[in-house]
Amino acid sequence: MRVGKVAALLAVVALCVACTPATKSAEEEVHGTAGARTAGDPYYPTSGNGGYNASNYVVAITYDPKTHHLDGDTTITAKASQDLSEFSLDLDGLDVRTVTVDGQAADTTREGGKLVITPADAVANGSTFTTEVQYDGVPTPFKQTKLGAEGWQISSSGGAFVAGEPHSASTWYPVNDTPTDKAAFHLAAKVPDGWSVISNGVQGRNESKDGWTTYRWDEPDPIASYLTTVGIDHWTMTTGKLADGTPLVSAFAPGAEDKKALEDRLPEILDFLSSKFGKYPQDAAGGVFLADKINFSLETQTRPIYAQWTDLSTIVHENAHQWWGDSVSVRQWKDICLNECFASYAQWLWSEAKEGANLDDQYRQWVKKGPQVFGAKLYDMGEGNEFKAVYTKGPLALHALRRTIGDTAFFQILKTWPALHRDGNAAWPQFEAYAEQISGRDLKGFFDAWFRGATQPADQYLWPGNLKP
Ligand SMILES: [Zn+2]
Repeated sequence: MRVGKVAALLAVVALCVACTPATKSAEEEVHGTAGARTAGDPYYPTSGNGGYNASNYVVAITYDPKTHHLDGDTTITAKASQDLSEFSLDLDGLDVRTVTVDGQAADTTREGGKLVITPADAVANGSTFTTEVQYDGVPTPFKQTKLGAEGWQISSSGGAFVAGEPHSASTWYPVNDTPTDKAAFHLAAKVPDGWSVISNGVQGRNESKDGWTTYRWDEPDPIASYLTTVGIDHWTMTTGKLADGTPLVSAFAPGAEDKKALEDRLPEILDFLSSKFGKYPQDAAGGVFLADKINFSLETQTRPIYAQWTDLSTIVHENAHQWWGDSVSVRQWKDICLNECFASYAQWLWSEAKEGANLDDQYRQWVKKGPQVFGAKLYDMGEGNEFKAVYTKGPLALHALRRTIGDTAFFQILKTWPALHRDGNAAWPQFEAYAEQISGRDLKGFFDAWFRGATQPADQYLWPGNLKP
């Protein structure tokens, strides 16, 4: 026996013992796969991203209305839902300067509307990570939609505002642009003195230095990306409080000051809507009144943004969305009736309560207009058809539902559904099941005829109760 040999053998054993854990830790090292470059909505397959869930956005921008130049620094906190070797954010236009993931420089590429990020180390499933994106450029809106420009737009006074559904956010900050990944949203916007900034949520501390002022807005409740907004203008602002202390801030662009009298009725409107839909689900309220004749007003969260043509009924509609669409958001865009049918029926309810409208008569007059009223679906209507019928046939369908199941069940549903899904997402078939559960009725025929069909419903569904003229 040679000691040397035995010693050498022992050394090999020792090495193997030592190398076992090393081999294990190499196995435990996260490699991961790329997150999906879609949120999976069949109508908008290029929107949103998979592999993570965002929980918080901190968006810092510096914007000069003179040059239209925006300098941005956005930090996104997210939790990985798979081992991630790569993930993406939606960002349209703008130049990306640097991206870090958990403080480490990351590789990036731009592919269409995607900012694709490869972190230095893969992100482990279940871990929370932060991504910081520094970028700049002149933001431009989407121009392809039927409603005109959407996203970042220049206002008639030379300021800027953001509005657009289903997309707008990715024109000014990197975002997981899907309503199914709602997150808190914090904005710090620095503008030259003389301009001011309005956004979602509660106003934070302002700071002025060297001719520029930074305005802060915080929306701690989950918010869908298309419901975030910013407005930079020579605003006239009004402030107040609801009876429960909820802060009110409204902003009027030069030329929109005449809308103040309408907005003065906001506490009354929110009181009325709360009496129908349950407690106001947002932490702040108000409105952003543009002097621009854009083609739509939008229910941006806590603070709807209004076109120049806005009337009182529009303010009722956009605030009804704070329950229907904002607090409870669509699961997919084919569920859009959960937003628009209800916000439109809120206008009917307002006119019934405040203006003495006879809704049965109103219903009969609409039905008289003929088959074109019924010519599009309210659910699963197909991409690009989301808004065809929801504003007209939508409230008719809900009024027919009310006359079918009676006021007690109908208003119980309206009042309890938003609380059931608060700060979340819901799909239309869930609403159908809930209406059947609360009313104790089989409503399959009714829902098929009104919501899934594109023809005038059969008489038994069209003329429930005493509706028949
Ligand atoms: Zn609406």
